[in-house]
Amino acid sequence: MSRVALVTGGSRGIGRAVALRLAADGHAVVVNYAANMAAADEVVEAITANGGTAMVVQADVGDTDAVSAMFKEVEERLGRVEVLVNNAGITRDGLLLRMGPDAWDQVIETNLRSVYLCSRAAMRGMLRSRWGRIISVSSISGISGNPGQANYAASKAGIIGFSKSIAREIGSRNITVNVVAPGFIETDMTEELGTEIAQEVASRVAVGRLGRPEEIAAAVGYLASDDAAYVTGQTLVVDGGLAL
Ligand code: NAP
Repeated sequence: MSRVALVTGGSRGIGRAVALRLAADGHAVVVNYAANMAAADEVVEAITANGGTAMVVQADVGDTDAVSAMFKEVEERLGRVEVLVNNAGITRDGLLLRMGPDAWDQVIETNLRSVYLCSRAAMRGMLRSRWGRIISVSSISGISGNPGQANYAASKAGIIGFSKSIAREIGSRNITVNVVAPGFIETDMTEELGTEIAQEVASRVAVGRLGRPEEIAAAVGYLASDDAAYVTGQTLVVDGGLAL
């Protein structure tokens, strides 16, 4: 069934793959981005070239007013958001003693406050539709922790607790709330770390390689589908066995 799906940070990496996947599954897709308009436009063009429906909307998802304006614009142009994918995320890595308050606040705002703001905004329409899917992208860092990522791991663990709580609040309304926790996926975010770290991580992955954005998108596609109606409050780890 065709629904309106909003993907935060849908312009690059995992979000881009999720946007393309949800469009291929028949959804009308909203591609949100923060700064890189050209990348977002390219995703929309790829979807429409395949006969799909898509629109771009710029918004910093950590900003209350920007999120309200984004949902207003989407509702006016496409209708209620019934599938929300909270994907936008950043890293500001550093060991705790060197991690200043700005690095802490920026990561919590973009990765966690955004999930609260967007989920709350989407929930209103989902309650009216009596159907909804909220899927948030966490990380294995939020489950196991990672040195140099105290801010990031806190934001990603926060997403898991948040999702379990609202899954219990709104499950009876036919709205499911789940989390996907990727391992090490080849995107701009991980490219920054360099090939040496990538090779070292790949050597610890049970399936012997890094992950692809499409492999996260497949998990999101499942959780967004009617097949996943009885799955809620869960965290699906998609990491090739890295965290085993
Ligand atoms: P990426 O390649 O760096 O892309 C990040 C996306 O988020 C871009 O579309 C970016 O848009 C958008 N974004 C950043 N800040 C935003 C903001 N304030 N408001 C709206 N959009 C914003 O990252 P990625 O690797 O695909 O990661 C996607 C998600 O997966 C993140 O939540 C990340 O933490 C999580 N994750 C990634 C990995 C991995 O190995 N890559 C592993 C575990 C979890 P602009 O281009 O406009 O800035």
